Amino acid sequence: IKGNYNVNISYYDDAIRQRLLLEQEIEGEMKTALETGQFQVFFQPKFSIKDEKHAGAEALVRWIHPEKGIIPPGQFVPIFERNGFISELDLYVMRQTCDFIANQKRNHLPYVPISVNVSRRDIYNESLPQVLSKIVESYQLDISDIHLEITETSYTENSQQLIGVITKLKQLGFVIEMDDFGSGYSSLNMLSELPIDVLKLDMRFLQNSLNAYSQNSSILSFIISLAKWMNISVVAEGVETKSQLEYLRNLNCDYAQGYYFAKPMPRDEYYAMMEHAQVT
Ligand code: C2E
Ligand code: CA
Ligand code: CA
Ligand code: CA
Repeated sequence: IKGNYNVNISYYDDAIRQRLLLEQEIEGEMKTALETGQFQVFFQPKFSIKDEKHAGAEALVRWIHPEKGIIPPGQFVPIFERNGFISELDLYVMRQTCDFIANQKRNHLPYVPISVNVSRRDIYNESLPQVLSKIVESYQLDISDIHLEITETSYTENSQQLIGVITKLKQLGFVIEMDDFGSGYSSLNMLSELPIDVLKLDMRFLQNSLNAYSQNSSILSFIISLAKWMNISVVAEGVETKSQLEYLRNLNCDYAQGYYFAKPMPRDEYYAMMEHAQVT
């Protein structure tokens, strides 16, 4: 029995050691990676469901590692949220995004607002509104050219502080999008207490709704009606098929984002797509 116990311990130790090693490796390389341009901002377009016009995009970061290839954000964003590096990375994503839109404007090319993710860590930072608006202004953009995506999991604690920061961002002119809606608990509370412009439905919400035995489809239709009534527009994420799109159209959902239309793409590819895009 004692032997078994030891085996379990060492197996457990090993898994933890592996994770710590990977984490240390990522932490050791992150600063150089940022300085040498290994982080790249990809863009994923989103479309108006009514006329299928290009209505916006989301900026999503990728780590193009010289040996490991493309590392998805799921593997480093949680680590950077713990060690604080996410703040610096998010500002980099913001500047890259502003630079793209500024370039489109300067060359009289079509452009749409682009949504940038704000980490749950920074949304409590009282200097965030000033920092972000200064960046946007330094590229001579309108504040409303940038939308901010915040996640609802950040709502549970210090909600007064959170409400303060988001209200300030909204007053400055940023469009506020609630990300991953339907994946947490305080959703309806948040809708009434925060100045939200856009709801982004979590993709699991859509997938569950299409399950015939689920009651989620009536919940989804209720959420969309409620949002309409509150003057909030609704984006469905993770739309992969035509039937999902038709389903959302019937529910009067406003926008769709997902592989059915396009995957997140590098700046050059998005630039090329914009040349022929029908924008709203
Ligand atoms: P998110 O903000 O919920 O982003 C949506 C995720 O869904 C993206 O994953 C996107 O590539 C993926 N996606 C889009 N359409 C589809 C689809 O049709 N089917 C499926 N299965 N997936 C789809 P990604 O790029 O791997 O990002 C994962 C998460 O990492 C993001 O979730 C966000 O929380 C975080 N993240 C990404 N970029 C940034 C960033 O610049 N800053 C911060 N703070 N977080 C970021
Ligand atoms: Ca997002
Ligand atoms: Ca999301
Ligand atoms: Ca997410």
